[in-house]
Amino acid sequence: MRAILLPGESSLGVMGGGQLGRMFVHAAQSLGFRTVVLDPDADSPAGLVAHEHIRADYLDPNGLSQLAQQCAAVTTEFENVPAKALEQLAQTRFVAPAGAAVAICQDRAAEKAHFAASAVACAPYAVITTEADLLAVGDDLLPGILKTATMGYDGKGQVRVRSRSDLAAAWAELKQVRCVLEQMLPLALEISVISARSDRGDIVQFPVQQNLHIDGILAVTQVPAPDVSQELQAQALASAARIAASMNYVGVLCVEFFVLQDGRLIVNEMAPRPHNSGHYTMNACDLSQFDLQVRAMTGLPLTQPRLHSPTVMLNLLGDLWFDPAVPGVERTPAWDAVLALPGTHLHLYGKASARPGRKMGHLNITAATTEQAESVARQAATQLGLAADW
Ligand code: ATP
Ligand code: MG
Repeated sequence: MRAILLPGESSLGVMGGGQLGRMFVHAAQSLGFRTVVLDPDADSPAGLVAHEHIRADYLDPNGLSQLAQQCAAVTTEFENVPAKALEQLAQTRFVAPAGAAVAICQDRAAEKAHFAASAVACAPYAVITTEADLLAVGDDLLPGILKTATMGYDGKGQVRVRSRSDLAAAWAELKQVRCVLEQMLPLALEISVISARSDRGDIVQFPVQQNLHIDGILAVTQVPAPDVSQELQAQALASAARIAASMNYVGVLCVEFFVLQDGRLIVNEMAPRPHNSGHYTMNACDLSQFDLQVRAMTGLPLTQPRLHSPTVMLNLLGDLWFDPAVPGVERTPAWDAVLALPGTHLHLYGKASARPGRKMGHLNITAATTEQAESVARQAATQLGLAADW
């Protein structure tokens, strides 16, 4: 059994300097850990707040050895960190999640095989590597969604296809890289589950999150999930726990699910890190997903987090920084008006410039009841110029 890294004594490292890394750094620092970020970008949100920022490419051997020298344990904040880099770090340091688990999450084909091995149903699919695979696709997969096997996020690298001719055109559009074709499913809604698992095999989970995506990007998360039965929530929690345990996962893992119109639960994909749909935990739970990421990598106890307030999270995309009436000119959203509403918690990621679709921050709304949280969230959305018709 490895030694526990105690608060106030050790340095923790994170691969990647985006907003998830920044919130990890904040959580680690509040326990007195020293923090080191490795990211090539000079202005990365996490690099700006960490004790140390190693500005290097993820595969740069010098950068990696500096990180290993300075840190007692290393985690990752985005799933496209090369698994090889994590494996190099793991030769001398505790790394959670492990490169092998991250590699599964990086590849939709490996991920789906893992879901099957964990006895959790996913959408019917086919892996497309060659022209012959394309021709062999069964009619049952159309209409479908063609997704690149690796590097997709926020709905990028995906094309919806109705027919075989669409499919051939879509594969050409995706440069004929290895893809997964999934049957288009009739969704009723989308949910996710965040689990944290220790190297002793202890697992704790947050309650089920209900998520609304707009244009392929998460827009709203509600907890408790207003439209999901207790049975289905229990099934989602158990499925997520199996998926984590069957790859001996250590760290925070988010599993996304679809609830179909006939009520069935289908797993969509997973992320080997804290997740946008778990940002509400920062204000609505007694431990956040980032607190649990710190605990899992240090070997500190994982205690069951408790949701103490019903909550709504609104994602704040760069679009809000532009007035539709005055195109191209950046403005500051009316934060003072939003913060005048009760139970609003604003988190901005310190990104230098806004772009449409770029994740700039999020707003958590907590209240005594679900109805109050929803009502304030709608007022805040209206103030900000967001759609409030979820
Ligand atoms: P992210 O990593 O940001 O969550 P992504 O780019 O990896 O997104 P997916 O989660 O695979 O993409 O898909 C994005 C959205 O597209 C889903 O949240 C869902 O709304 C829709 N979608 C994906 N697959 C299917 C499917 N098989 N049937 C119906 N809708 C789907
Ligand atoms: Mg997704």
